[in-house]
Amino acid sequence: MVNVGILGATGMVGQRFIELLADHPNFEVTALTASSRSAGKRYEDAVTWHLESKIPEPLRDTIVVDTDPSQVKDVEIVFSALPAENAAVVEPKFAEAGMKVASNASAMRMEPDVPLVVPEVNPEHLELIEMQQKNRGWDGFIVTNPNCSTIALVMTLKPLYDQFDIKRVYVSTMQAVSGAGYNGVPSMAIVDNLVPYIGEEEEKMETETLHLLGDFDGETVTNANFGVSTSCHRVAVLDGHTEAVFIEMNEDFEVDKIKSSFSGFKGLPQKLNLHSAPENPVVIREEDNRPQPRMDRMEGKGMAVSVGRIRKDDVFDKGLKYILVGHNTIRGAAGASILNAELINEIM
Ligand code: NAP
Repeated sequence: MVNVGILGATGMVGQRFIELLADHPNFEVTALTASSRSAGKRYEDAVTWHLESKIPEPLRDTIVVDTDPSQVKDVEIVFSALPAENAAVVEPKFAEAGMKVASNASAMRMEPDVPLVVPEVNPEHLELIEMQQKNRGWDGFIVTNPNCSTIALVMTLKPLYDQFDIKRVYVSTMQAVSGAGYNGVPSMAIVDNLVPYIGEEEEKMETETLHLLGDFDGETVTNANFGVSTSCHRVAVLDGHTEAVFIEMNEDFEVDKIKSSFSGFKGLPQKLNLHSAPENPVVIREEDNRPQPRMDRMEGKGMAVSVGRIRKDDVFDKGLKYILVGHNTIRGAAGASILNAELINEIM
């Protein structure tokens, strides 16, 4: 077993890490960190647990420590669920101290020597780790996963991008409140309401999507060459982001071919049979009223993206449109980092 720690273990994503790692065949959680508000407390006393599962028994009494590498002993991998501003300072210290950091935070994602990876989409970008360690003189390293709404989008774009000539992508999101963290959106702001703005989300989706689908020459990533325009909105859903996707192609296509590229899509995690890999990363729903977040977010144990209402769009030239749903704190956050770590553990 590999000993692992969770940075920001009391937060929304930190709790998902704990839940998903509870019975993991390769990783054992031996360290939990949070802010100084929580450090020194038993985990059960420090956390406001809000998942349906129970806190795993062995971790209830674990003492939460400060998020500092000197406090985290005998750990090979740390999963980071820290706020971005804190991650920017702290994650490099953990990598410098020799630990492998699998991060959810946006702080390091666009650094040229830090891989931003979705294992089904661009596992080859992990080669940047060697350059990162050389550039920075670190024994450890940082690998990141994208923002929650980007992951779901890019998992559906990858099979299309490989087989069709994409000209432009337009996306309108309906994002769950858990995406903002436990204290993120006050109930008074979201009940009976919709908030048509999520800070920096549109920029992240547009930049990260092109980077993930970019060409990698062994040293640098050249962004994919199509337009992406997004509009991001917060809705009164607990978990599960929904996205309405509109694509303009440079070529004619048949809807059946689009469907077979979704249903036939498999990546390296499926080939390697990694523990957290869903059997089918993209699952098609044929019903007119699916996918829906409450009914479809747990597809593939929360690691698959559901797509539906796949149809031609006659307003855009050679237009395609569909709806997707992905679980934002599983596939879009904790599960994504765990899959990155499983892949690294297997191939490096
Ligand atoms: P959250 O619920 O607010 O949790 C934040 C965690 O970080 C808590 O454990 C908190 O500890 C700790 N923390 C806060 N300030 C700290 C400090 N100065 N030093 C050390 N620890 C500190 O946030 P979240 O939603 O889990 O998000 C965590 C990260 O994942 C963010 O970077 C977010 O952007 C990213 N992310 C989130 C989602 C999602 O769907 N929620 C998806 C993708 C990525 P205390 O309890 O002690 O305050």
